[in-house]
Amino acid sequence: MGGGSILDATQVNLSSVFFFSYNNIKPLTILGQKILFVTAHPDDESYLAAGTIYKNYQAGGQSFLLCATLGEKGRFHCKENVTESQLKKIRKWELTAAAKFLKISQLTILNLPDCTLSQKLNQKTLLKKILILIKKIKPDLIASFGQDGISGHLDHITTGQVSRSAAKKLKIPFLSFCCPPKLKSAQDQLRLRRKHGRYAPKINYSTFNIKIKVDPKIKLKALKIHRSQLDRGNPFSKLPEGAAEEMLRNEYFSTRFNRT
Ligand SMILES: [Zn+2]
Repeated sequence: MGGGSILDATQVNLSSVFFFSYNNIKPLTILGQKILFVTAHPDDESYLAAGTIYKNYQAGGQSFLLCATLGEKGRFHCKENVTESQLKKIRKWELTAAAKFLKISQLTILNLPDCTLSQKLNQKTLLKKILILIKKIKPDLIASFGQDGISGHLDHITTGQVSRSAAKKLKIPFLSFCCPPKLKSAQDQLRLRRKHGRYAPKINYSTFNIKIKVDPKIKLKALKIHRSQLDRGNPFSKLPEGAAEEMLRNEYFSTRFNRT
């Protein structure tokens, strides 16, 4: 796989999707390995990687999940007035149930304050905790956000940056979540509908070079476990037509890191 080519994992045997580590020498497979997923909020894992996590389990691999916050600011879909501490409990339960459903080997929740990960002190704590976990579980790969943070959410961008530094430090190949193409083209529309969180003013999208075809039923079920985040039962209420379908059927990753 040379630079710039798109590898469609659906066209080859999924257990032999190859990509290359930093030095471009050692080929690695993505499924059937020990993968540490690092996310910012409960439900990020289900939107971006639920199908891959499950497929990794089916391929004999193990997935670990570290989630930095309990997403206590994500209250906009809750009908009743819930406090932040009540929402933390609900989202912790949901994330634990989703992790169990996706056969995640170990879930680690840091409970850092939501929407503040870009603050220096929180970045430091996050880095420290990720390094400790990597040393303990010794993953073959680390997957987290790229510099676009999918939506440009600053918590996502920080989580990706910190995870990538940790991966680099311990010389573990890094994989970034990539925005599905139709979702990318709908970002201007989505931007207007945002009700919480802090976002980067401009998003530099990474381009995927791994596309994994996933089971839409598994993905939808994982998303629906995060009930507090559903809008009348729908995990895709904010998305334009086509983008939801795309998100349910494929997951996108990049082994390159777009610095520009
Ligand atoms: Zn998130």
